[in-house]
Amino acid sequence: MHLIIFGAPGAGKGTQAELLKSKAAVAHISTGEILRDAVKRETPLGVKAKAIMEKGELVPDELVVGIMKDALQDPKSDNGFILDGFPRTVPQAESLVEVFKEMNIDDVVLLVLDAKDDALVDRLTNRRACKECGKIFSLAEVEGKSECPSCGAKNSFYQRDDDKEDVIRNRLEVYRKSTKPVLDYFADKADVVTVDAMRPIDEVAKEVNEKLKLG
Ligand SMILES: [Zn+2]
Repeated sequence: MHLIIFGAPGAGKGTQAELLKSKAAVAHISTGEILRDAVKRETPLGVKAKAIMEKGELVPDELVVGIMKDALQDPKSDNGFILDGFPRTVPQAESLVEVFKEMNIDDVVLLVLDAKDDALVDRLTNRRACKECGKIFSLAEVEGKSECPSCGAKNSFYQRDDDKEDVIRNRLEVYRKSTKPVLDYFADKADVVTVDAMRPIDEVAKEVNEKLKLG
């Protein structure tokens, strides 16, 4: 399986990608996760990326393309991959198509998780992250709890800067402007599968499995 997963911030890309990863035993390559890890470890890339990400803007193409190329050519991706958060611009998409050609990959599927902006703002401002393990929860999942359900850390929940409303509106705007042209670019280069993402996680997953013929 060679999949690129698309959706505005908050549409559930990470969650659906993790479910697909277990189901199809492929690598989940998340630009956001790779970048946040670099920020945390304060690598040169991380320091550069941090200032840009805090404003809700996109990290420059040459930084992202380099990271993604390494991840695609890693042996972990031999059995297939799910790209999450990349490509976000037409130049990134063009670079990616070149990499696919070099790697003889010609069966790419685009999975689009479709959702309306207001619903996404609602969902995202109600998210909390654990500063120890990085896992993200809905407010309802952690309200009144002091321990992280995932790693057990105490009082570790916080609202990520990129989950605040003005930043979210900006991210949605950036998404609309830059990602839609990417979908158009791929229209004649990959199979496109669209799913309504504003439903419970298991319902979305079921439809994804059916449409990708994973049973
Ligand atoms: Zn945790």
